[in-house]
Amino acid sequence: MTASLSGGLALAVMVSTDTAPTSAASVAANSADAAAVRGKDPLPNRPDFRLPFPCGVKVLAQTYPGHDKDGKKIDMLRYGMEWNSPITASASGTVHQHFSPGGIEIRHGKGWFTTYMHMKKRVKVGSKVKRGDIVGYMSDVGSKGRPHLHYEQLYAPGKNDADNQHMVRAIIQGRGPLDMYKETPIKNWKSTNCKSPAPKKYYVVTKAKTSGYTSPKSNKRVGYLNKGKNYVFCTAPGISKTLPKPKTTSKWWLKTDLDSGQTGRWVPAAYLGKGSGQPKDIKGKTIPRCK
Ligand SMILES: [Zn+2]
Repeated sequence: MTASLSGGLALAVMVSTDTAPTSAASVAANSADAAAVRGKDPLPNRPDFRLPFPCGVKVLAQTYPGHDKDGKKIDMLRYGMEWNSPITASASGTVHQHFSPGGIEIRHGKGWFTTYMHMKKRVKVGSKVKRGDIVGYMSDVGSKGRPHLHYEQLYAPGKNDADNQHMVRAIIQGRGPLDMYKETPIKNWKSTNCKSPAPKKYYVVTKAKTSGYTSPKSNKRVGYLNKGKNYVFCTAPGISKTLPKPKTTSKWWLKTDLDSGQTGRWVPAAYLGKGSGQPKDIKGKTIPRCK
């Protein structure tokens, strides 16, 4: 995107260095972004955008009079960290452009883009980023002495690049569409830009080497899982299978990573040699059904 920005910024509220937000208003802002949703998204396929700051960080979001009075541009500050805060991708995508001052644009797919400005140490053009990955650091590039992040969401379906004309009212963490002129500033807004946790593993003992399958309802073999202690993620019913010894028949299957290298494949729970019920791990905990 091409940037048309601002020389001197006159931010209405500066970051305080020792903020411990405890007011009722801040509690409200932190606890329930959902409560701030004002209706359906007027645009299709918008990613689940999060604040472009690490998980748990508290942000002041506002605009300033130098912005056009369209309420779409957002300036963000981090409480307690005026300089050098990591800036994180609001959703997954590809960094397809650098622009001045200190800006990047990320293409998220299905017509959606976000821009981040005034940063230093930007990630390279071409970088594929996941939500929560660091894309640069808060600085004052093009806004001397006033470190902040300028953030925009843009919608340009069918285009590989978005421009100012494609800027839309942001929806962040379910809050919006935002009109920053009407609601400036939003204080103590807590980032939920958290990396998705690694899937929980349950340990089991398989009594024999078994084939892996593409699904619990498929006879297509795609590798093998060795006998012994193995981890699995979850369980689901499917085709009934029988382990010859000890003779065990079960319709339950286990999702796991195979020893032959394929990840997220399926093995029959009959190979645990433990009967026909929903399988349990070695601690006796029932393995949850896959979602
Ligand atoms: Zn700005």
